Amino acid sequence: MTKDLYPAERITRVREATAAAGLDALLLTPGPDLRYVTGYDAIQLERLTCLVVPPGEEPFLVVPRLELPAAQASPAGALGVELVPWDETDDPYALVAGRLGRPAQVGVADRMWAMMSLRFRAAMPNAEQLAAGTVMRELRMRKSAAEVEALREAGAAIDRVHAIVPGLLRAGRTENEVARDISEAIVAEGHHTVDFVIVASGPNAASPHHEVSDRALRAGDVVVVDVGGTMPSGYCSDCTRTYAIGEPPADFAVYYEVLRQAQEASCARVAPGVTPESVDAAAREPINEAGYGEWFFHRTGHGIGLETHEHPYIVSGNTEPLEPGMAFSVEPGIYPGAHGARIEDIVVCTAGGGERLNNVDRSLIVVDA
Ligand code: ZN
Ligand code: ZN
Ligand code: ZN
Repeated sequence: MTKDLYPAERITRVREATAAAGLDALLLTPGPDLRYVTGYDAIQLERLTCLVVPPGEEPFLVVPRLELPAAQASPAGALGVELVPWDETDDPYALVAGRLGRPAQVGVADRMWAMMSLRFRAAMPNAEQLAAGTVMRELRMRKSAAEVEALREAGAAIDRVHAIVPGLLRAGRTENEVARDISEAIVAEGHHTVDFVIVASGPNAASPHHEVSDRALRAGDVVVVDVGGTMPSGYCSDCTRTYAIGEPPADFAVYYEVLRQAQEASCARVAPGVTPESVDAAAREPINEAGYGEWFFHRTGHGIGLETHEHPYIVSGNTEPLEPGMAFSVEPGIYPGAHGARIEDIVVCTAGGGERLNNVDRSLIVVDA
């Protein structure tokens, strides 16, 4: 599993991409890029851990000596990458600079701490620093079959969580209480970590990134539940369903049906060669036509993989055509103010069109008050 997901030859493709971008080295500190290249899920600490990828020479991984056993035991240990431990009184930035010679341009991980990027600048004052993301996104955006399978497992796990949610929603329970139960379910259903739990009830449902509060659910409430976590594989889940506690407001039922059809149309638009902005438009047009356009004020979706939000973004202006292996959310929402709704599935582009990785019921789920 791990070998398929984090194949040893990946580092060769990263070296080629680094050379093609004209960079003298990539510097990858702990985070999704380092994990993508090596499988090493290193923790980000003040001591420097950094994979150095010079295109013309062998890559090496600089690690604090006390973390050497962890690095050796990680998938990175099996890749044949040289591990370079440093001791507490060493300067690991000078160590990297010394091995690289005089680089003119280096790519630093998008998620590198500023503190580290500044130390690298001091150690290599002539090296211009660019975002490594411009190199890494081209690779990470095009998922392998093993990565798609990992996302499929994540999708099935979060679907099982949503299947439990109706039993957790009851008038009188607070958003916080429901969220605690959902967090437990996210782990119980196979995730390694809980990344976010949004339980947005009543007027809170009109705020797309509301998290949770001590508001108690009431009869007649609409509840937007948007949840996700990271699987042991490293790959993320993200799925939204909208629920009603007893009979929802009459105007709500009307726009929920508009939203459901818009989300359907957007998923149906997904195919190789189609642009992300066209997938966005497929969701937006029916919502505009029904007169709810001003209440759909966020992009339709985001890529997903080792991060919950990554390329490609499903947004107007993104004209880079979809390719098989690209995975992203399709999550239109309508938020008029007194309440709101969102429906979100992860969709992977395949040769034959879009494949949804979330399949739990999308119709409005009404639970007993
Ligand atoms: Zn979001
Ligand atoms: Zn979400
Ligand atoms: Zn999302």
